[in-house]
Amino acid sequence: MTITPVSPAAPATVVPPPPLEHLRSPTTRAVLRIQQRILAAARELLGAEGFMELLPPTIGPVTDPGARGAKQVDIDFYGHRYKLMTSGILYKQASLLAFDKIFNIAPNVRLEPLETATTHRHLAEFHQIDVEVAGATRQDVTALAERLIRHVFAACAADMRDELALLNRDHNALLAVADADFDTVSHHEAAERLQALGHTQSFDAELDWVGEELLSRHSPRPFFVVDYPKGSRGFYDRESRNDPGVLRNFDLILPEGYGEVISGSEREHDYTRLITRMRETGENPAKYRWYLDIAREGIPASAGFGIGLERLTRCVAGLDAVWQASSFPKIPGVVSA
Ligand code: AMP
Ligand code: MG
Repeated sequence: MTITPVSPAAPATVVPPPPLEHLRSPTTRAVLRIQQRILAAARELLGAEGFMELLPPTIGPVTDPGARGAKQVDIDFYGHRYKLMTSGILYKQASLLAFDKIFNIAPNVRLEPLETATTHRHLAEFHQIDVEVAGATRQDVTALAERLIRHVFAACAADMRDELALLNRDHNALLAVADADFDTVSHHEAAERLQALGHTQSFDAELDWVGEELLSRHSPRPFFVVDYPKGSRGFYDRESRNDPGVLRNFDLILPEGYGEVISGSEREHDYTRLITRMRETGENPAKYRWYLDIAREGIPASAGFGIGLERLTRCVAGLDAVWQASSFPKIPGVVSA
């Protein structure tokens, strides 16, 4: 396994305490109980809507290349170079060969750039609630994401009062999300808003973390950002047929400065277009053999999304940093348990 360089200079405020202190702390226990309720609530809603939970693979010959500046981790698989999953996207699409509505709760490993150690939003190991629906449109899955997030906040507001009180988390902030109609803005509108707020943001690029947090602080409720420009995301986000250069994707941004918690999209599944998009994003199609073999035979059209579990927990529990939502947190560049 590749060893990460160690950052000796990570500021103390972002470094978790040693496991003994972290795991015994009443704060950690309250946060992990809330996280358990979040997982149960997600399973309740998805189960009631007929989703099949599949256990995710954690290694494979290729993984999601679309992670903003993060490095992948190689492992030696009997003389073949395999990867730890950065996300389950390729397997989610393939799983639709078996079931139409699926989800995984999956660990992901991403060696994020060292500068992310201080964002309070990045871990090198985190978990996603990863959902995919055959035949769905973006509208279908943003509506599903909204139902799911609202159900999670309502369940935690109802059942986690003691834990929320211990954490000094305002119970009404949860009810505000549970009762909200989520807004939608285009990436273009989001960039315009940022420029109006004095933040430099290109119309052709990913929203940066600072900009996203700024938008999040200025919004009273969660909102979707849709239509990111091509080039900002992976080859599997479907390009609009009517509006070339624009992707049929979305992020969900939570309020109060918590920022992005979900990314999702309609998926590209057409074999020829997948190869074109791989080449455009600098990926070598030969690496994706098992996936392209399936795509040639026909992967179902689909849409789906991934929810960052620790980021969701951070917002529900009102935490300063995402590492507080992990029992054994891995901060980029910091050696720990
Ligand atoms: P992505 O498709 O890369 O946006 O990942 C899906 C979701 O996983 C994001 O919306 C975040 O909630 C979460 N996520 C992504 N990267 C990280 C990270 N390094 N640490 C914690 N959560 C993450
Ligand atoms: Mg994202």
